[in-house]
Amino acid sequence: LNKRIPEPRSNDEISRLIKTLNNMIDQLEKSFERMKQFSADVSHEFKTPLTIIRGEIELAISKRNKVSELKKTLANILDEVIRLSNMVEDLLTLFKADIKQISFNFKPINIAELLNELLEDVYILAKEKGVKVRTEQFEPAIIMGDEMRLKQLFLNLIDNAIKYNKRGGKVIISAKNKNDSVIVSIVDTGIGIPKDEIELIFERFYRVDKARSRDTGGTGLGLSIAKWIAQLHNGKIEVESEVGKGSRFSVILPIANR
Ligand code: ADP
Repeated sequence: LNKRIPEPRSNDEISRLIKTLNNMIDQLEKSFERMKQFSADVSHEFKTPLTIIRGEIELAISKRNKVSELKKTLANILDEVIRLSNMVEDLLTLFKADIKQISFNFKPINIAELLNELLEDVYILAKEKGVKVRTEQFEPAIIMGDEMRLKQLFLNLIDNAIKYNKRGGKVIISAKNKNDSVIVSIVDTGIGIPKDEIELIFERFYRVDKARSRDTGGTGLGLSIAKWIAQLHNGKIEVESEVGKGSRFSVILPIANR
């Protein structure tokens, strides 16, 4: 089906108008396709945990169980319920971001202090996974930002650096100033990301390794949210990675005018 309007041959105003209209149609069609794909992905992502929950319950009621077995079943169900509720929360954040319905509280933030405040949580996550976290001296920098969202951004990246690591692996966190920006780097000695997938990992639900992401409780939405938060602060995230060696995620944020 060709939805484009035929362009007249002459190069007048009408012809230009039709060109513009055709471009608009193309763009609308692309966003519609993206929306369709996204709805399909959402349904798919919800189906897996629901299937597991259903299976666990059916199995539990179809046979006599010891209390210990029932507890194990309930623990599995709880894992899936937690995954579902994390996914709902992440999706709501992204939906609200899309329709610009999230309010922010921008104020001067000391990045070094903010990172230090995260460290306690980070050490707990790292200990669970047997990963060592090292911090380099954070250079002081003030940026205009939303404290809660910035913490969410850094925690998502640090959490990934721990999750996609190897036992005994390392994560190094640093904050350095360069020109008018602060660069927060999160370097890991983990599994790395194939070159041709680096751009894709920021897309909603994209995962390099579905099974591993599931095992670690991932929703596939963390980096989409991280990218959105960076952009909201006029910043960006850069990634360098080598499969089997590790990755470096750098968040570059503009320092506030003094
Ligand atoms: P998830 O919930 O799956 O972690 P994210 O959006 O946070 O979702 O990340 C998307 C995918 O990018 C992950 O599933 C993983 O394959 C890959 N990834 C993210 N961070 C890293 C990292 N530090 N090292 C290796 N792979 C990573």
